[in-house]
Amino acid sequence: MNPTRVLVLNSGSSSVKYQLLDMADGSRPASGLVERIGEGPVPDHTAALRQVADELRERGMGLDSPELAAVGHRVVHGGTKFTEPTLITDEVVASIEGLVPLAPLHNPANVTGIKVARELRPDLPQVAVFDTAFHSTMPESAARYAIDVETADRYDVRRYGFHGTSHAYVSRAAAGLLDRDLAGLNTIVLHLGNGASASAIEGGVCVDTSMGLTPLEGLVMGTRSGDLDPAIVFHLARVGGMSMDEVDTLLNKKSGLLGLCGDNDMREIGRRMGEGDRAAELAFEIYIHRLRKYVGAYTAVLGRVDAIVFTAGVGENSAAVREAALRGLTGLGIELDGVRNTLRSGSARIISAQSSRVAVAVIPTDEELEIATQTYALVRA
Ligand code: AMP
Repeated sequence: MNPTRVLVLNSGSSSVKYQLLDMADGSRPASGLVERIGEGPVPDHTAALRQVADELRERGMGLDSPELAAVGHRVVHGGTKFTEPTLITDEVVASIEGLVPLAPLHNPANVTGIKVARELRPDLPQVAVFDTAFHSTMPESAARYAIDVETADRYDVRRYGFHGTSHAYVSRAAAGLLDRDLAGLNTIVLHLGNGASASAIEGGVCVDTSMGLTPLEGLVMGTRSGDLDPAIVFHLARVGGMSMDEVDTLLNKKSGLLGLCGDNDMREIGRRMGEGDRAAELAFEIYIHRLRKYVGAYTAVLGRVDAIVFTAGVGENSAAVREAALRGLTGLGIELDGVRNTLRSGSARIISAQSSRVAVAVIPTDEELEIATQTYALVRA
């Protein structure tokens, strides 16, 4: 019997998520989450990974189980080196560690996940799936910042993009939902979760995305500012006397919706707007304004848009965000169906009007399935 199960590990900055997927029948026999690493009973990532291994073993699905074909690890930053899912070796681990300066919050946790899993099952194939990989096809015109080329190259300063597994999964699922050939489909994907990013995808190939060197660029997010004038950083340092770390924390953790109105959860913002709360309304307006700018920009980048897809927590659940983001865009061929947009459902669905030239869809993202699929394809090859 061939092993058909893939364990997907997402070892994040303060949590470890896992899911066990059976690629033969599509079932998911186990999943779980270890949270608040470093705050209580779970002192560090090594302890968290051991807890995951223990939980699986107690349910008879331990890392030593013969049904396990591979472990797939989500890795946030692949730099310019990793543009494909990659079988993990000692050299690969060293290279991912070498990318820590580009992703100081995420890559160390990812590496620990890989190391512990390899200690527990040294003989098992393990695969790294990179959040940046899907965006590696961006042309230089989109990937380069307009700064001195030598300086940029010396410090690896360029646009990498993130949420790549989600953008890849959702854009492919869109072709399926619309019954269209992926190669002929131009899509704008709006991944709106606590982190948020947009991407322009031409025939399945990413040509632009809103996140850059780090996940800070682009859309307004739960706690991140997204795009701003870089001189704000100098201003806050010179005039405000803030340190680099303070500015970093301000822009990544205390900005976005949270900084604007004190809440980063779109549900809470919606509730406050219902009570006429002006700060919540303004936060929503700024969030929507940025989103509309990207829809317009990517329409121009693609030239012809066939589909716009909403995904992740806000994109899948907030009819109000979708409506406000696309209101009045009939001139661009975009027309929502008010009833379809507000119907609650957990499935992939089309929400545009019959007369809309651009199809608009809601597609629940599934990063675990995408990581497992890529991992399984690689180990079976
Ligand atoms: P994610 O990062 O994809 O898990 O998305 C998390 C975010 O989705 C939360 O911070 C919420 O703001 C948002 N969200 C989840 N459910 C809803 C909902 N029913 N309506 C509006 N926003 C939601």
